[in-house]
Amino acid sequence: MKKFELLREDKLKRRLIRENIKRVHMTSAVFSVVLPIIMILHAIYELPLEIRAVYYSFLFCFELISIAFFTIASYSERKKKRYRISILTYRSYWLVMILMMSVLSYMQMYQYQNMIPYCLMTGILSLVPMFSGMEYICYMTLQSGIIVFFYTMLDMQPSHIIGITFFNGTMVAAYKYFYELQLRTIMMKGKLFSLNKSAEEDPLTKALNRRGLDKKLNTIIPYAIRNKTAVALLIVDIDNFKKYNDTFGHPEGDKCLKAVAEAIMKTAARENDLTARIGGEEFLIFVNGGEKEGPVKLAEMIRKNVEALHLQHYTREKGHYVTVSIGVASMIPKNLNCVNELYHEADSSLYTAKKSGRNIVAWKDRVYEAKAVGAE
Ligand code: GH3
Ligand code: MG
Ligand code: MG
Repeated sequence: MKKFELLREDKLKRRLIRENIKRVHMTSAVFSVVLPIIMILHAIYELPLEIRAVYYSFLFCFELISIAFFTIASYSERKKKRYRISILTYRSYWLVMILMMSVLSYMQMYQYQNMIPYCLMTGILSLVPMFSGMEYICYMTLQSGIIVFFYTMLDMQPSHIIGITFFNGTMVAAYKYFYELQLRTIMMKGKLFSLNKSAEEDPLTKALNRRGLDKKLNTIIPYAIRNKTAVALLIVDIDNFKKYNDTFGHPEGDKCLKAVAEAIMKTAARENDLTARIGGEEFLIFVNGGEKEGPVKLAEMIRKNVEALHLQHYTREKGHYVTVSIGVASMIPKNLNCVNELYHEADSSLYTAKKSGRNIVAWKDRVYEAKAVGAE
């Protein structure tokens, strides 16, 4: 595991469990489709089968098991945090697969002297699941044990035994190679995801940064232009924050910024609402589809929720809490330059809010008194 120390061990384990469930999902889906096809082909071509009834019943059971595991894996994929269920699911799936495939390969060997199911089983077991070394040894030992037991009941030719030994050796080598490769891919995916995310995120508040906001706007704005839907921008600025820092110190100031950001993001929580921290104590909230007074109502809710945090302000007076002023702008965008226009408009509204006494929402030259939009 030393090679992968960049990724914490438990995180890697969780990813492997998720990956294993994905693979159970995929494999059981393939078998649910392939088994009926095999049954139909057997029926169409009326292959000479001495053990027809047993064979069909067996394939039917196998089909039911595949559907059952497909359903369980879908459930486990949705409940991402249920790791115990997931581990149990994928381990029991491969156990059942070994038993079913061993019986199938015995039947095929008995009936047609062909080893296709055996090779298929060993191949799938070596290349599909993401087994740890120990798991792989356990499953392969079990599989070999069952097969040796079954095949001793048949009159095996030495060429078959040599073939099996050679094939197993190749599969063990392939397993080792693919396991390392898959592990590396999973690790790289995780690293790239967190790198991308952190490059677009403000580390203190977890809101988007300028780059993250620009990236999202690059897809949202053209869509709004095409559909002629309104977009709105809110600039939220903490009131007298310099004095807060001067009174309580910078680390407390950071905590305050975090709390305000959380309150903003909890309020502007619709799927298309974007919150970004653009330097200092200023947040931009981009609202997609904000028409008429909708954005002003959202701004007022944010203003109220920040005040309701009851963060003591610099005066240390009872009832004097940290507040924000918010400038609002909205428009139906005509071109990509609309973001700049929105920003300038919202900024001048913010100026109006600050001039009018702070802890206020302003839109154009209108100042929204708290009572007018339903606040206390
Ligand atoms: P106004 O009500 O007019 O907005 O007054 P203000 O004091 O909030 O405005 P000003 O822009 O003068 O001050 C912003 C302050 O925000 C200055 C700086 O001390 C503080 N600040 C900016 N970035 C950070 C940060 O990352 N952490 C902390 N703790 N403070 C910050
Ligand atoms: Mg400011
Ligand atoms: Mg400020």
